[in-house]
Amino acid sequence: MLNIVLFGPPGSGKGTQSEHLIKQFELIHLSTGDILRVEIAAQTELGIEAQKKMDKGELVPDEVVISMISGIIERNKDAKGFIFDGFPRTIAQAESLDEMLSAHSTKVNLLIMLDVDEDEIKKRLILRGEKSGRGDDINIDIITNRINVYRLQTKPVSKYYKKQGKSFPINGMQTEEEVYSDIAHVMGKFVK
Ligand code: ADP
Repeated sequence: MLNIVLFGPPGSGKGTQSEHLIKQFELIHLSTGDILRVEIAAQTELGIEAQKKMDKGELVPDEVVISMISGIIERNKDAKGFIFDGFPRTIAQAESLDEMLSAHSTKVNLLIMLDVDEDEIKKRLILRGEKSGRGDDINIDIITNRINVYRLQTKPVSKYYKKQGKSFPINGMQTEEEVYSDIAHVMGKFVK
């Protein structure tokens, strides 16, 4: 399996770049944000609880997202690999992911880090909110909170993988095509 963590602050282009990756490589795209929004739309018990956190720009509890991911990995044992988008977002999630993958004799091969500065992120999220109506993208206080949560809880995950020599930084401030070209270049080291 080839397992990629697509990493970066909110609005750094993880979803957009995942779409390019899926087209080129036959990997399963696993976005915890998308899965949670499906649960919210269906108004499941999990979705209703998750929405309370997401509306404030806070993280959904680790146990909730870990069990979602674990189920999907179980159901896709024969996959060529996964693109993890928006997961892991805490060290506890990263440790669980490593355990889940090693139970299937596989691992995270690389983390692609999309670097985008905070002013640009704020602009992008507000614009995205205006277009999509996504609640957590409209309000500047919620956006600021998400950026703080990223800095405090999520950023350490990139160091966790950097220590393992698996982190590849990409300049996320370029055009969509330029960013993907850099990603494809890194992927070339892993896919022959
Ligand atoms: P973005 O990266 O643009 O913030 P996402 O769709 O990845 O968008 O996440 C939206 C929200 O969903 C997050 O602010 C958080 O509340 C929740 N969420 C998504 N993934 C996770 C996760 N792995 N752990 C905890 N909460 C998550």
